[in-house]
Amino acid sequence: MTQAPTSTLVDTYGRVHRDLRVSLTDRCSLRCTYCMPADFADWLPSAELLTTDELMTVLATAIDEGIDEVRLTGGEPLLRPDVVDVVERIHQLPRPPRTSITTNALRLAGLAGPLRDAGLERVNVSLDTLDRDRFKQMTHRDRFDDVLAGLAAARVAGLAPIKINAVLMPGINDDEAASMLQRALDEGWRLRFIEQMPLDAGGIWHRDKMVTAEQILEKLSAAFDLSPVPVRGSAPAEEFFVNGGPETVGIIASVTRPFCGNCDRVRLTADGQLRNCLFAREESDLRSVLRDETLSDAEVAAEIRRRLHASLAAKQPGHGINDPSFIQPQRPMSAIGG
Ligand code: SAM
Ligand code: SF4
Repeated sequence: MTQAPTSTLVDTYGRVHRDLRVSLTDRCSLRCTYCMPADFADWLPSAELLTTDELMTVLATAIDEGIDEVRLTGGEPLLRPDVVDVVERIHQLPRPPRTSITTNALRLAGLAGPLRDAGLERVNVSLDTLDRDRFKQMTHRDRFDDVLAGLAAARVAGLAPIKINAVLMPGINDDEAASMLQRALDEGWRLRFIEQMPLDAGGIWHRDKMVTAEQILEKLSAAFDLSPVPVRGSAPAEEFFVNGGPETVGIIASVTRPFCGNCDRVRLTADGQLRNCLFAREESDLRSVLRDETLSDAEVAAEIRRRLHASLAAKQPGHGINDPSFIQPQRPMSAIGG
């Protein structure tokens, strides 16, 4: 019989944390304009990235403390050469968490089957347009067909449900809201629109130049009948039945409709820094603990446990994007793990 977790990761506002977002690398094969500039190359030094053994030590401890869901992300997580091994080792941990991956899907065609066999449950694929030329314009890479091939492979492998993340930008792809939803309905994808957040490496985000949840709903409502799905729980997406359901569309409105009160997420960067929020200004250094040769394995686990709880004790009630004093975190989304 599997043992119950020894603890619960609860913060001072009573939020129980069960979901760990793990960045496997900060590197990426695309340059989505809302994420990083075309010439971005400010990567973390390889020696600073957690090894897979180190990652498993953190994960085993976090699972003991109540984490039961792991989302692998990045940067582009499928660029990590041993990503299949990472998934397999997570699956072999005592009390393996539900494991999914957020990916740009460029390498998914070759990896969907092996990832599924290794224990991956499902994928979130980022796709912002259905137009090949626009894809190239938005990502600075001509790889649209690879994404479609990756999506097809995910379906064949049984990585279900396939969720699609789309960020709309004004005057660039915001005319595609309804056509993307129609394509998602046709393909059986679960589409979620994400409001553009102030987390890009180039600092291009501006409140007046983002497409809001309200605007997205307006565009969708011109073509579909949308009605709110009543239960939300800790899920970031506000879900709407499309034409009476059962299909739904989601909107993740971090900026205009923050959902921090229900947040159950904590994040680990590829270089071993624990973050209690995407927008946190402070991190807790787990890598130095993992690499401290004066500590026994038990002492390392105890210190990681202590830092997990201390980090959550310092978690703010909200991300503060809408406060006049808001300052964008130094790390961009790609180096945090979105
Ligand atoms: N490379 C993978 C991908 O794109 O799916 C995983 C990492 S990416 C940082 C995770 C998600 O963050 C993607 O769905 C992407 O669209 C989203 N994202 C990146 N920058 C963003 C921003 N400034 N605002 C909102 N979403 C963003
Ligand atoms: Fe890469 Fe994902 Fe950022 Fe696009 S959103 S540049 S795919 S990390």
